[in-house]
Amino acid sequence: MPGRYSIQKISEILGAKRSIAQDVAIEHLLTDSRRISNAAKSLFFALDGKRDGHSFIPELYAAGVFNFVVKEGCQIPQELNNANFIVVKEVLPALQQLAAFHRSQFDLEVIAITGSNGKTVVKEWLYQLLSLDKNVVRSPKSYNSQTGVPLSLWQIDAQNELGIFEAGISLPGEMERLEAMIKPTIGVLTHFAAAHDEGFINRNEKLKEKLKLFKNVHLLVYNQDQAPEETARELNGLKTFTISKKSKQADLFVLEQETFIGKTQINAVFTGKKLVCSIPFTDEASVENALLCWATALALGTNPEVLGRRMETLNAVSMRLELKNGTHNCSVIDDSYNSDINSLEIALNFLERQKQHPKKTLILSDIYQSGLKSDELYKQVSALIQQKKIDRLIGVGEEISENEQAFQIQEKHFFPNTESLLKELPQLQFRDETILLKGSRSFEFERISRILSQKTHETVLEINLNALQNNLNHYKSILKPGVKLMAMVKAFSYGSGSFEIAGILQFNKVDYLAVAYVDEGVALRNAGITLPIMVLNPGFTAFAELVQHQLEPEIYSFNLLERYASFIGQKSVIPSPIHLKIDTGMHRLGFETDEAEQLCQVLKNNPQLQVKSVFSHLAASGSAKHDEFTRQQFAAFQQVCRQIETTLGYAFIKHIANTSAISRFPEMQLDMVRLGIGLYGIDTSDDQQSNLLQPVAALKTSISQLKKVKAGETIGYSRNDEMEKDGQIATVRIGYADGYLRVFGNGNGKMLINGKLAPTIGHISMDMCMLDVSEIEVEEDDEVIVFNDQLRIETLAQQAGTIPYEILTNISQRVKRVYFYE
Ligand SMILES: *Cc1c(COP(=O)(O)O)cnc(C)c1O
Repeated sequence: MPGRYSIQKISEILGAKRSIAQDVAIEHLLTDSRRISNAAKSLFFALDGKRDGHSFIPELYAAGVFNFVVKEGCQIPQELNNANFIVVKEVLPALQQLAAFHRSQFDLEVIAITGSNGKTVVKEWLYQLLSLDKNVVRSPKSYNSQTGVPLSLWQIDAQNELGIFEAGISLPGEMERLEAMIKPTIGVLTHFAAAHDEGFINRNEKLKEKLKLFKNVHLLVYNQDQAPEETARELNGLKTFTISKKSKQADLFVLEQETFIGKTQINAVFTGKKLVCSIPFTDEASVENALLCWATALALGTNPEVLGRRMETLNAVSMRLELKNGTHNCSVIDDSYNSDINSLEIALNFLERQKQHPKKTLILSDIYQSGLKSDELYKQVSALIQQKKIDRLIGVGEEISENEQAFQIQEKHFFPNTESLLKELPQLQFRDETILLKGSRSFEFERISRILSQKTHETVLEINLNALQNNLNHYKSILKPGVKLMAMVKAFSYGSGSFEIAGILQFNKVDYLAVAYVDEGVALRNAGITLPIMVLNPGFTAFAELVQHQLEPEIYSFNLLERYASFIGQKSVIPSPIHLKIDTGMHRLGFETDEAEQLCQVLKNNPQLQVKSVFSHLAASGSAKHDEFTRQQFAAFQQVCRQIETTLGYAFIKHIANTSAISRFPEMQLDMVRLGIGLYGIDTSDDQQSNLLQPVAALKTSISQLKKVKAGETIGYSRNDEMEKDGQIATVRIGYADGYLRVFGNGNGKMLINGKLAPTIGHISMDMCMLDVSEIEVEEDDEVIVFNDQLRIETLAQQAGTIPYEILTNISQRVKRVYFYE
């Protein structure tokens, strides 16, 4: 967290009356009592919400928050006399004033985005496109309101070169306040539609209000076909960068737009030159948003060619989707935080990508603030549901219930509120299906989610799918054009999941997947994965399954080659794909380099086999002291490839680079790379700590019991460890059967509780272990972090004298996996 202000200083900035008990540095602004991250360094603003913010003060104080901004005249409880209170006329303007001051301390380019739809998507995509060149700070999630914007701006620090912030309004007068805080230098106007019209007299008034955001920008990017006619008039004097399909005068003139399966190709003219870009989306809204991002990045001077490649890898953005295992073999997608027709479409797309169950159910609440009349709105919703082939709809809320007849669907149920649905839940018999929960916040669908999700013992491995995508994109961005990518998903994707990970990779268009054994490949096929899959160790007994599921074997020996060739049979009409493994020094599996001649002969006699690829594996690509050896492996490999290619007379894919080699030896990328551990956010090279990777997995457990223990008493099996002083221990719900290795016992391992490290004490048991928490404030049931992005797997591996691969793949299957998608 960047250095911030002392409470004294903040008080001065706000020109406030104050009651300062103790000067402290403030790092976090807090507006929601449920989101405390570092209580001692947080400043709480008592805003008016459903409940008056002031009423939260006692409980916040109990949780360790000592700094408060409060409204003049409010009652400050006597017993809180050692807390700091800054007294202001109005609390929200104070928050905004502080944010504006903070913003004014930095001289950076700031893009502000407004419009009716697509603000968050455009913000996230701009971030994806621009953050490889610049240090970018952006609004978290959809923080675009009168309180969201200040919290976003508070994140700016000295390293940032570019800020990207969204601004949303629902009432006249609000935009001026946002403008004064954000002080944007560049504006982006997204799709302008009827949403949130309620607070305004008419569209024109609302447009005028929105454009106030741009009154001081030096450049405004917008789609002139899409913007209402009034826009141009309102913008007098502003420098603009326009997009149009109709007007040749536009800065980005779109000539043609062609849809293919899963992607859209756009041809356009920019500064007199033709440009082509292809995006991995086909829906109209995504194309429109992508055009805006393309134009903005071009306007900022991004190299068109580099930009074109980045456009191809744009990720789907959604607010917060969580995929969990449900009871009765269901999967539950939890999106209970917002509901509008766009985010519904995003969630339905995500649902569509889940192939594990054929049956799909949507639980949907009333949709607020659509700006549409309710019959029109639900007609649109109904069309969307039909298009996405939902089998069952459960509508919750008065309005959706009134529109029951709009839905042409086999099975539908309606409930006036969440309570009544909860009562009937058992009768609805959820089984073997994927359930999407989509509701406005006030419907509290998380109550439904809790019941539908599987309860296990409380140790979970959280998988951050955004981090996975981020890592994938990082590696994609360092690949030379045209180089294919094979993602290694062996051993349950290094312990992180199976079809869940493969599904995301398929959606993100990797070229190949690789698994270790045939049954892993079969499981992926059964879950609807259609990408080509290579099997590293096909064995001799599962050829039929292999072929039946269109899996492609690695062939590493003459024995395997001959047996597989005879299984396929010379009469086979279509040649079967195989992958040849060459041993260039690893000495594990593979043909020797001097066996190439003989290998080619066998292949020539067996035209029923087609060599799809030839590859080898590097033994020490991450380690600088073996670089010479790595280069020898590479040279030997290329030599063999040339020989095979000449003799066989056709081309095949050549690949040798694993994660470390991708970044350390760009010249070894050849036709394809095999990305493994890096995908999961770990860089194992000894000299190349890439900080662009994000750890994908976090292992969390909790405290079952706390015990006071006296000095000299022993802890756990074999009485191996004892308390040095009187203190306290916590028994936590994880043991070696979960994959927490026994070597972590007796103080070798540490876990994070409430931000502090607690060492293990005594041996690790099968299902539990003990931590010394004498120095930490804890309560039973507190969350305990075994590893995450702060306590890294790399550190654990070091403590255990092993490598991150082993820590990850050891986490047992009984540990529930929870997938996040934000
Ligand atoms: C596991 C594996 C990889 C991936 O290695 P990382 O170091 O995890 O990138 C690549 N190739 C083969 C043959 C493998 O078995």
